[in-house]
Amino acid sequence: MCGIVGYIGYEQAGPFLLEGLQTLEYRGYDSAGVCLNDGSELIVKKAKGKLKVLRELTNEGNDLKGTVGIGHTRWATHGEPSDVNAHPHLSESGRFAVVHNGIIENYQQLKDSLTAKGIEFRSKTDTEVIAQLIEYYYKGDLVDTIIKVLGRLDGSYALGVISQENPDEIIAVRKESPLIIGLGENENYLASDVTAILARTRTIYRLENDEIAILSRDGVKIINTDKDPVEKQTETVDWDVNAAKKGGYEHFMFKEIMEQPKAISDTIAPRIRDGRVVLDEIGLSAEELKKFNKINILACGSAYHVGVVAKYIFEKMLRIPVEADLASEFRYRDPIINDKTLTIVISQSGETADTKEAMKEAQRRGSHVISVVNVVGSAIAAESDDVIYTWAGPEIAVATTKAYSTQLAVIYLMALYFGDMLGTIVPDEYKALVNELEQLPEKIEAVLENKERIQYLASKFFNSRDVFFIGRNIDYALSLEGSLKLKEISYIHSEAYAAGELKHGTISLIEEGTPVIALATHEELIGKIVSNIEEVKTRGANVMCIACDTHKELEGIGETVFIPKVCDMLLPSLAVIPLQLFAYYVASLKGCDIDQPRNLAKSVTVE
Ligand code: GLU
Repeated sequence: MCGIVGYIGYEQAGPFLLEGLQTLEYRGYDSAGVCLNDGSELIVKKAKGKLKVLRELTNEGNDLKGTVGIGHTRWATHGEPSDVNAHPHLSESGRFAVVHNGIIENYQQLKDSLTAKGIEFRSKTDTEVIAQLIEYYYKGDLVDTIIKVLGRLDGSYALGVISQENPDEIIAVRKESPLIIGLGENENYLASDVTAILARTRTIYRLENDEIAILSRDGVKIINTDKDPVEKQTETVDWDVNAAKKGGYEHFMFKEIMEQPKAISDTIAPRIRDGRVVLDEIGLSAEELKKFNKINILACGSAYHVGVVAKYIFEKMLRIPVEADLASEFRYRDPIINDKTLTIVISQSGETADTKEAMKEAQRRGSHVISVVNVVGSAIAAESDDVIYTWAGPEIAVATTKAYSTQLAVIYLMALYFGDMLGTIVPDEYKALVNELEQLPEKIEAVLENKERIQYLASKFFNSRDVFFIGRNIDYALSLEGSLKLKEISYIHSEAYAAGELKHGTISLIEEGTPVIALATHEELIGKIVSNIEEVKTRGANVMCIACDTHKELEGIGETVFIPKVCDMLLPSLAVIPLQLFAYYVASLKGCDIDQPRNLAKSVTVE
């Protein structure tokens, strides 16, 4: 689930391993470690906590000897975060070392049977069983042994393995957890994420499930579990290496907030030609589209909140019932879905395990799947029927901002594209909406310019214990995201409520001084939300309100932040900016670890 790096070449591996792990820090982790073959034995250094501890322990990797090694940042699933549970894990005699992302679901059973054979475990992790099994089965050929071990593992894994006997190779294999191989000159790399090796090479192989890569200094061989060679095409990664750096900003999150106008423009501009939305990526004809009687949106976290916005937009513009579903719930509830349902899955990384499995469930039941993904070539992108990429570039901060915004942009494009095909949008409206969509990046720029006002409001609210977000319709969908953003990075408890629902329960929690952030942008329901704001004010709430500048009468209703007026469909893209900035400034005032909030990981590749 977290980060893997590996190096084999003629240079000392230590500095690269530390540098690679540093780049992967954004994924969120609780401990880190490296293992190198120093020519005679495997040397492991690992430590709980931030990478800083490991960097100091190893003098930035310079004190480590060896030209082959593997490294890992761990996000604990089995066994608490600790030095001993950190990866790499060694087999009992210390001859084999393993780094692992993912979960071995049958680890307890394997551990019990190895323990019964007298093998002693050091850690509480599921991963250690892999190292122990390798040693248990080893008869002189590491690849054969690994193939045998894979046959015993249930679950998901990306693995990097090195051995004491063979300082000339790293073996890598994956199932349901991403792993890539970077190709250099007389050196090769292993990583769970391209950002870790971008500074060294742009030529990569993306391993598929059950492909085994044998990395040596002079080449990389890829085979399947029958040991047949696999012919693979290399890919060239064209992400800008600086895009994965902070570029003068204090935090990646802030940089990514500020990058939103460009990210949205990159996502929209190539898909609008001569005033028309062109989504060549979607292989559905108008006839095929018309046969769907339901749209099903599957996602997790903020991507799910995009799905909730999409529900309001699609139902209004396409007149098709839409269900936005949490992927982790959908996959286990025998969902009612068939070839008359169009499924849209949304995932920044394209590797989110819950979303991927939910997608497969939808496909098994005959549904056509369109994915909205940021990472090119990721599993969801590869396995969906059609993919629409959000051209957000690398998103490093754990809390999403620009990926969320570009996902919204894709939803608008789809609404227009499908609405046109289905004939549910009249030509004049279509033209006006496309026109407004093209101007969206500029309008976002204008909202970003108002950031000092949000910073000021954050200073008034940052000491709060609980914050409530309320809104109706699209504003409600947005309040879900505003609330999540605040709680994930500032650790302040917050809740999002459909404003009309407050009086059915939660209003009892409002007391003198409780902060309530009210979204009042949805034109048709301004009167209703104003009444809800009055209800909470009467009970002592301190209100911060987000409204369009066409409603200046809301100036005094609370601390009001105005955003430019745009059509209803596009409002979430503007209104989310103050919410992101608010969460950012509050977390900053509280001194939180903004880019890597505790307990969270960027790309959640475990269930
Ligand atoms: N399940 C393993 C552990 O808890 C791997 C976690 C990870 O992917 O970082 O150690």
